[in-house]
Amino acid sequence: MMQIIFSWIIGSVLGSFVTCWCDRQISGQSILSGRSHCDACGQVVRWRDLIPIVSYIRLKGRCRDCGAPIGITCLINEIVPAVLFAYFAYKWGWQLWSIRLAGLTLVLMAVSTIDAREQIIPDVLIVTGILWWILTTWLLHLSFLKGVAGGLALGALVWLTAVIMDRVLNRESLGGGDIKLFFMTGLYVTINFAFWHLILSACTGLLIYSIKGHKGQNEEELAFGPAIAISTMVCLLTEPIFVRFFSSFN
Ligand SMILES: [Zn+2]
Repeated sequence: MMQIIFSWIIGSVLGSFVTCWCDRQISGQSILSGRSHCDACGQVVRWRDLIPIVSYIRLKGRCRDCGAPIGITCLINEIVPAVLFAYFAYKWGWQLWSIRLAGLTLVLMAVSTIDAREQIIPDVLIVTGILWWILTTWLLHLSFLKGVAGGLALGALVWLTAVIMDRVLNRESLGGGDIKLFFMTGLYVTINFAFWHLILSACTGLLIYSIKGHKGQNEEELAFGPAIAISTMVCLLTEPIFVRFFSSFN
């Protein structure tokens, strides 16, 4: 029980840190450039207002000084890793496997946050995801071959689709960042789930599009990164269920 509570706290704190990193990545500031401050009035955020989730709710999502809205992304980015980390701890305990998923969660969250706002996926996040995969695959003695096969199959398939769609639509359909993200997440879902991951990403993307489309958003402004990120986590979390389902036929 303590592990679950601690995981919840660690998740929300790291989530808060990732949000901060994303903000500074977008605005071009250094992560080391002083304490968090309000974007609207520049007031440094007080220590007692830096408690993840709790502070957001207590301040009703507004700056204490000027009342400018903080943005719901902050709250989502604290709750999502808190819930997932707690679930990993509940399901697998503090094992290397949980830590692998936790690390991936943070990378995918950063990808989603920046892609949703800037329609770009920084290469540094793709590289971080790949290096984290290599390290944890090696430590866990998992199959490198299955992962690489998954990454290459997805990357190649999506790249081919993009080339064809670009020809048909006569404009850029899928960004290079999306193709790289498919490769990176393909490593984690492995060849076993590559196809399912692709279908699920497309469905999630359409779902997000249909919700956001009503707000009159431009088609080109819609980011596919969050859909790929959600699909990856769903694939990895439903994996045990699938394995049980298919092995029941044997
Ligand atoms: Zn303010």
